[in-house]
Amino acid sequence: MKYLEWLQQIGFRGEEAGITEEEAAEKSQPLSNPGSTLMKSVNRIIIHHSATETGNAAYFRVLHRIVNRWNDIGYHYVIGNGSLSGDGEIEEGRKLPFRGAHAKGGNEDSIGICLVGNFNRNNPTDAQMSSLGLLLKKLIAEYSIPADSITLHRLIQGSSTECPGDNIRLHNIRYLIDIK
Ligand SMILES: [Zn+2]
Repeated sequence: MKYLEWLQQIGFRGEEAGITEEEAAEKSQPLSNPGSTLMKSVNRIIIHHSATETGNAAYFRVLHRIVNRWNDIGYHYVIGNGSLSGDGEIEEGRKLPFRGAHAKGGNEDSIGICLVGNFNRNNPTDAQMSSLGLLLKKLIAEYSIPADSITLHRLIQGSSTECPGDNIRLHNIRYLIDIK
């Protein structure tokens, strides 16, 4: 699928912004320096869904750069659902420890992980959840993040979102990391 077609499918018109397919493809490329500040410390991990049926890191980077006019993709990691990347495939988004743009009020000290899908309608795949568990364990160890500092976007103070959807509850996430 082409970027502009995908943007249109999720409700945005690339042509209206005067963007060509070539420019979108250029903006899909990973950035070694997204231009945001470096986080002084990483204390939390915040879980998101994309609220789209399809996607991957490159498509979300195009969405965030073109539609939101951000420097780079907002999330630090994207976990695919088999639509535009592998089922359970972990992709890097914005480079750590650059500050992300994924949860108002939580960006200054957190890692943002997005699972592709709309979990108000569907469930995450088994492969997505098992990859999420592996990624969480790795990040918890790497950044010395307490297990109880893993949270959901909708639980961030001041947020007004259903993200990551009804079908993901905090205990589903905690369950993943309690299993050794
Ligand atoms: Zn979110």
